[in-house]
Amino acid sequence: IREFSHGQSNPTYLIDYGPNAKKMVLRKKPPGKLLPSAHAIEREYRVYNVFNRIMSALGQHGVKVPPVLDLCDDPLVIGTPFYLMELVQGQYIQVHQTFCELAHLYIYMNTLYIYEKTIVYLLLLCLTPNVKIWGKRKRDPSLPGMNPQSRQQVYKAMVDTLCSIHKVDINKAGLTDYGKHGNYVERQVNIWTKQYKRSETHSIPSMDRLMTWLPQHLPTNETTTVVHGDIRIDNFIFRRDTPEVVATLDWELSTLGDPISDLAYSCIPHFLPVNFPIISGLKGVNMNELGIPTHEKILEMYCEKMNLHQIDNFDFYMAFSFFRVASILQGVFKQTFSRYYSSDKKWTPHPELENLKAKAKSEGLWNLFLPNKEYGAGLTNVEYAYLCEIMGSCLYAPEVFNCSAPDTGNMEVLSEFGTEEQKQKWLLPLLNGEIRSCFAMTEPKVASSDATNIESSIVEDGDNLVLNGRKWWTSGAMDPRMKIIIFMGKNDPNGELSVFIC
Ligand SMILES: Cc1cc2nc3c(=O)[nH]c(=O)nc-3n(C[C@H](O)[C@H](O)[C@H](O)COP(=O)(O)OP(=O)(O)OC[C@H]3O[C@@H](n4cnc5c(N)ncnc54)[C@H](O)[C@@H]3O)c2cc1C
Repeated sequence: IREFSHGQSNPTYLIDYGPNAKKMVLRKKPPGKLLPSAHAIEREYRVYNVFNRIMSALGQHGVKVPPVLDLCDDPLVIGTPFYLMELVQGQYIQVHQTFCELAHLYIYMNTLYIYEKTIVYLLLLCLTPNVKIWGKRKRDPSLPGMNPQSRQQVYKAMVDTLCSIHKVDINKAGLTDYGKHGNYVERQVNIWTKQYKRSETHSIPSMDRLMTWLPQHLPTNETTTVVHGDIRIDNFIFRRDTPEVVATLDWELSTLGDPISDLAYSCIPHFLPVNFPIISGLKGVNMNELGIPTHEKILEMYCEKMNLHQIDNFDFYMAFSFFRVASILQGVFKQTFSRYYSSDKKWTPHPELENLKAKAKSEGLWNLFLPNKEYGAGLTNVEYAYLCEIMGSCLYAPEVFNCSAPDTGNMEVLSEFGTEEQKQKWLLPLLNGEIRSCFAMTEPKVASSDATNIESSIVEDGDNLVLNGRKWWTSGAMDPRMKIIIFMGKNDPNGELSVFIC
């Protein structure tokens, strides 16, 4: 059994019984408390069954989905409900990174403040509950490495598949009860507003503005079709040799609704700037040169295939698409963080870490950062830089090799300037990887890139030193192994920086 690394909200596994058996795919709900109606794998199973039936009746004109085998809704069997389907051979074109990798990154760094921007940065990204902490490259909907003709075909295949879905006759397909009829967008705005409020962690003014604006600008001429709910290029399996869709995946958000919401959602990358963090957008990219249809061209292709004159109110649908994704991500954000923050093990390092550290130490791959031969590996900065590049590809590698910030800088300070007593008390345990440390430099009120701006004071008061100031981004402050803080402040406001060890 192997987990698909690019799986989205529901953990998905390849089941391989050997060369003579048919390969299967198992898809299950994630563990833990889930928001109502989220992770609806039962719906996905149902729609796969229906479309398989239609496919066998219509052949090439149907919507291609993986053949399904069975659904098990008993959570006692493997922890949550799951279903089995056949493996569809083909290739995925991945265009984005998953949310949880980022969430883990934040958690792992033990940062105390989470950027408000996170929710915006995470648009388009969804939950992966069982996450690998290994870093991944930023995905790119401009499909690097493809030629313009193939790119065009990929985007065309997406529009064609979307049209096939929207053309399904819901009565003939037996899907009349697959969702409510009419007022889809209004209901969706209400649902996602409720979901958002239920998982709100802090106020985001742009979301508040959208929640007021959307209900005032609802479209008035909706039609009802099957909607996929999560149309994007990496939800298709393409034939290996040509950009032809052999299966459309990830139907957990599908229902009956307004097809233009699907169309707008599929255009989200077109509205994200090319240098957008985590996922590159297509705004600012020379789409003509790349062979990627502009969003106007996509609408034109869609209208032509669906026999429509034009799409009204498209801006509304785009705003709604972004709002919906942001609501989903806020739910994911809260779920992921509450899982950690409500856990009494939230600051406990993974037990495997100590085994890996012992292994690294026994191989001599230890304290590589210290040029000082007495305490460290005695490498030059240039020699160490190559090793950093390798260690940097894995989030926890620096700790395994005892080359992790902020311990490295703190050990350098102690080895250069520490007294013998300080070295015995803190440097040696740090060098042995027995304790952790932190470094309190950055302050919210001043530009901390230039540490001379720092305002915290260190003032003598009889036998005491009084530290006064506000620090943030003090990585590792909550780590149970943290035994020493190096605090940066000033003895007098115009004076030089001092450090204080506590
Ligand atoms: C994951 C993580 C872990 C961290 N851990 C720690 C930690 O353990 N301890 C700690 O003290 N801090 C930590 N930090 C904070 C980090 O070191 C600070 O963010 C950094 O010092 C920058 O300071 P600032 O955020 O105030 O940004 P600013 O100094 O306000 O800089 C903002 C931008 O302005 C630019 N800029 C600033 N001044 C100038 C100038 N004079 N000329 C031109 N450009 C300028 C900067 O390059 C930057 O692009 C951590 C940060 C992260 C992301």
